[in-house]
Amino acid sequence: MPVKELAGRLTIKYPGAARAGPASMGENPGVTSTLAPPALCVEHSVNLRGLNSFGLPATAHTLVRIDADADVRRVLDHPVLGPAPKLVLGGGSNLVLSRDPPGVVLHVRVPGARLVAETEQSWTVEFGAGMAWHDAVRWTLAHGMPGLENLALIPGSVGAAPVQNIGAYGLELAERFDSLDAVDLVTGRGVRLDARACAFGYRDSVFKQGGFAGLAGKSLITRVRLRLPRPWRPVLGYLDLERRMAETGNFRPDAQTLFDWVCAIRRAKLPDPAEIGNAGSFFKNPLVSAEQCRDIIGRDPHIVHYLLADGRCKLAAGWLIEACGWRGKSIGRAGVYERQALVLVNRGGASGAEVLTLARAIQESVYGRFGIRLETEPVVL
Ligand SMILES: Cc1cc2nc3c(=O)[nH]c(=O)nc-3n(C[C@H](O)[C@H](O)[C@H](O)COP(=O)(O)OP(=O)(O)OC[C@H]3O[C@@H](n4cnc5c(N)ncnc54)[C@H](O)[C@@H]3O)c2cc1C
Repeated sequence: MPVKELAGRLTIKYPGAARAGPASMGENPGVTSTLAPPALCVEHSVNLRGLNSFGLPATAHTLVRIDADADVRRVLDHPVLGPAPKLVLGGGSNLVLSRDPPGVVLHVRVPGARLVAETEQSWTVEFGAGMAWHDAVRWTLAHGMPGLENLALIPGSVGAAPVQNIGAYGLELAERFDSLDAVDLVTGRGVRLDARACAFGYRDSVFKQGGFAGLAGKSLITRVRLRLPRPWRPVLGYLDLERRMAETGNFRPDAQTLFDWVCAIRRAKLPDPAEIGNAGSFFKNPLVSAEQCRDIIGRDPHIVHYLLADGRCKLAAGWLIEACGWRGKSIGRAGVYERQALVLVNRGGASGAEVLTLARAIQESVYGRFGIRLETEPVVL
């Protein structure tokens, strides 16, 4: 992984620096030492296998480390890098790399965590986009500002959290979101977006939308601000958490207990990407109309479903996949996780194409049996 001198400015890169995941709290962000003025850290022919949680093979022709907004502007101003296509990479935990990304990979490492406002109603905290999401959750708890514990242990970076409006155990990022800063990848202009502009939906936001109004691939998020309501109220409506309360007899858990429960439940259910490559849930839980839901329940009374306030119904995609007999099955070196059919895994040396072949086969059989089209959750390249 040679590091190039760019525009006459010297960059010294220490071994292993760019291979780490999102910047961790307490980690020295200055792994790259630069002689002033600050330079871009540019690498060529970078193997991305260690930079995506599925462990899929792909090579970045050029990878630039983004530590600040100014780095994005330097890339855009550069005569070769500026006009090239760009892929923004965080922790690589929601990506299926089926080919080498064309152009430049922008690896977001912007560090930082701080309290920006405190009122009787809330704390507002700001994180650099490169910080690991789980570290941000831990940081808020350690500083006496609870409210994110249901989202503990979700892999990836803070900057990617708004992209798919991460959610788990009865809470979505949108419910704690204040605003974010991003840089337009064409003009280099900085923008601040509030929740309305982000157009959050179920595992969705303006950053996943294409077309004229969408921002998919058009901006790089550098900082995210979250508002944590005071007084703290636990979010306990999720079945797994209700079970924990019943098992432990603790019906009024504090934030740290809730954090510990969520971590323990997740560790028991989901494969650790460090051991088995995966991208978490591979498909979104499909939303259907009340009428469609009645029809499906009529045919399959055991189907796992959740009624939504607007009358629609959310079906458990994992249940649909399991009902089609996919749990534990494989195609080539890509498989369906034995303990949770919603998670596709790399059984060792799988390619992105193998993962997508398996995904398509699952989609076809679920459609054939239930008439429901499963939508993929990770971003496919
Ligand atoms: C074991 C496991 C469990 C998971 N559990 C959950 C869960 O419970 N809930 C949930 O919602 N998700 C879950 N996920 C998915 C994943 O962790 C989240 O989507 C996470 O937010 C992805 O972060 P990342 O930094 O890895 O993003 P990446 O995979 O690097 O990128 C994902 C997308 O976001 C874009 N992006 C990344 N960073 C930025 C940025 N700074 N600015 C603009 N665009 C950017 C990328 O271009 C890409 O399109 C899980 C994944 C795994 C592997």
